[in-house]
Amino acid sequence: MNLRDDARALSGDLVQLRRTLHRIPEVGLDLPRTQETVLTALDGLPLEISTGSGLSSVTAVLRGAQPGPTVLLRGDMDALPVAEKTGLDFAADTGRMHACGHDLHTTMLTGAAKLLSAHRDRLAGDVVFMFQPGEEGFDGAGQMLAEGVLDASGTRPDAAYAIHVMSAGLRSGVFGTRGGPALAASNVLKVTVNGEGGHGSMPHRAKDPVQAACAMVTALQAWITRTFDIFDPVVLTVGTFHAGTQQNVIPDTATFHATVRSFSPEAQRKVREGSPEVCRGIAQAYGVEVDAEFVEQYPVTVNDHAEADFVAHTVREALGEEFYAPLPQPLHGSEDFSRVIAEVPGAMLTLGSPPPGADPETSPNNHSPLAVFDDAVLADGAAVYAELAARRLTKAA
Ligand SMILES: [Zn+2]
Repeated sequence: MNLRDDARALSGDLVQLRRTLHRIPEVGLDLPRTQETVLTALDGLPLEISTGSGLSSVTAVLRGAQPGPTVLLRGDMDALPVAEKTGLDFAADTGRMHACGHDLHTTMLTGAAKLLSAHRDRLAGDVVFMFQPGEEGFDGAGQMLAEGVLDASGTRPDAAYAIHVMSAGLRSGVFGTRGGPALAASNVLKVTVNGEGGHGSMPHRAKDPVQAACAMVTALQAWITRTFDIFDPVVLTVGTFHAGTQQNVIPDTATFHATVRSFSPEAQRKVREGSPEVCRGIAQAYGVEVDAEFVEQYPVTVNDHAEADFVAHTVREALGEEFYAPLPQPLHGSEDFSRVIAEVPGAMLTLGSPPPGADPETSPNNHSPLAVFDDAVLADGAAVYAELAARRLTKAA
């Protein structure tokens, strides 16, 4: 089977589907129009389809002609609350935007379902297509796991793969991955300092939460540089800080929230345990109370080394050497696909997709209202999804 040629023959349909999805961006776990569009696109294929109960996911199982293991392919479907400014003729005008390219992922996964369905007689094993809502901070993957996506075929997947497009930083059409940590863990540190308000001229008769909270913000930075190996980095950024109503009033409380990124399970554990402790220590020194809560969003995305090698080999062989470039270091973003590949071995791939003619170094990044993704990558993306499943099933058989 030459899946790449088959995919290229589908190219026009894929571009059309992607642009349809791009016009109807939906945010979060409830994506009714997107789900309906995917179900229509899959209609007529020999798939066992189920939909989520707590979210508008679509799970489709393709049974190969021969029995064998299961491979899971995941594509996320949600958009962002970003007002699109690309000026594209298929731009969304709803205040929401597929600014992270998930419309491409959904389309490529639909394409892979078509390609593999056409070669069902050659497959020894099953393919689970995981169409997932709510990647952007809603833990859609966690919910689909809770609803049993890993048991969809009746056998736990032997491997799982997901592709993510990048509108900047990588050459268009080039795939990449790496063994080990591939994306950061994402967490939030939420801190509320409770002091005692009073008159701004008489701080000795109050307990100033602003001063204590400021000390916490700077202490956290110092603690990070003195605690973590620079080759296993942690990034902590305080993005919000709120206190007070007027310059001459010491408020009762001050609050701040920080995003915390880490790249190994060890660093993740250490920052989870240590950062609230730093705040408590400062609070004690200043005589105020503190409520410091560390909320884990997504864990580190850790690619299986053997699966990452398999991905590299597959892309090079199926598309050509020039279509693969290893990722030299992990990406700063985070992913709930981490939850899937914490359960089964797998790998996350990147796919460069800056627009034609753009310099990847300067083109607007994912999540920008100006981010533009190149439709021309859709056929190869669908082909790589399909190749990974087809070859993995042959390999394991
Ligand atoms: Zn994304």
